[in-house]
Amino acid sequence: MFFFSFWWLLAVCGCTFAYIEIPEAYLAAIRQDRADDQSAGEYNYDNQGDDWTGTCQTGESQSPIDLIFDDAKIVSIPRLRFNYYDQPLQTPLVIVNNGHTANMVIPLTQRGQRASINGSLLPGTFEAQSVHFHWGYYHTKGSEHAINFERYDVEMHIVHKNTIYDTMGEATQHPDGLAVLGVMFRAVNRQSSQHYGLNKIFNQLPRIVQYNTNATIMGRLTVGQLLGNIVTGEFFTYNGSLTTPDCAESVTWTVFPDVLDYPYRQIARLWNLKDSRQKPLVDNYRSLQDINNREVYYRTI
Ligand SMILES: [Zn+2]
Repeated sequence: MFFFSFWWLLAVCGCTFAYIEIPEAYLAAIRQDRADDQSAGEYNYDNQGDDWTGTCQTGESQSPIDLIFDDAKIVSIPRLRFNYYDQPLQTPLVIVNNGHTANMVIPLTQRGQRASINGSLLPGTFEAQSVHFHWGYYHTKGSEHAINFERYDVEMHIVHKNTIYDTMGEATQHPDGLAVLGVMFRAVNRQSSQHYGLNKIFNQLPRIVQYNTNATIMGRLTVGQLLGNIVTGEFFTYNGSLTTPDCAESVTWTVFPDVLDYPYRQIARLWNLKDSRQKPLVDNYRSLQDINNREVYYRTI
């Protein structure tokens, strides 16, 4: 059952208007996501996070890190299982410029399920909550993790919450609270892309240039489409943290070494976004953190 209590105005062709209705539960999830982001207080990427305080400074299991194949433990790991990743999501989807990234809260599927992951070394089943991006600028690469000392143009994070916790706020207080998938993008000189799901998101970026603005995405989109055609059978996995304040050490990370090729002109759209200070929202990645005494595991097919 849906309650349509809020109407969104969409300009169509500049001459007529259509109304888009957004289910109340999805709007509430978007508001909560904003509140969670803001609860950490103001922060920016002027020093790539090196001036962030609290756990960001004192934590010993922080992210991102350099993922080095030769240092990783190659062990037998069950495959990562994707549940309802191929099911179309409820529409409209809403993408927000929250001053730190372009963020999309992931709604239920049209059949009312929540896309989730389990398997691998994950301590439970984790439901997809949101997706966002980290990027660089003309001459910098914006990925957070490095793979064999190499960073990439963009890193996409699909954030999942352990089903045993009710809220993101609760989940971030437990080491088994969250699971994040990291996907690297490489900018390629190709005009078009077959990654229709990602295109739907990136095509809306010109509408969220200003801080605190949002845009709606219509049409068929699955969470699985966000992964493009990357190989998901091989990955690094390790225990780490959120890469934004408060840097809670609650994340089981999965980072795929297979890189998604994506058009340069689409990636360049990220660089036009502005933060809350009206400054260009670019280079929104945190610097690499010490691995300390952690193990990084690698799964091969
Ligand atoms: Zn992130």
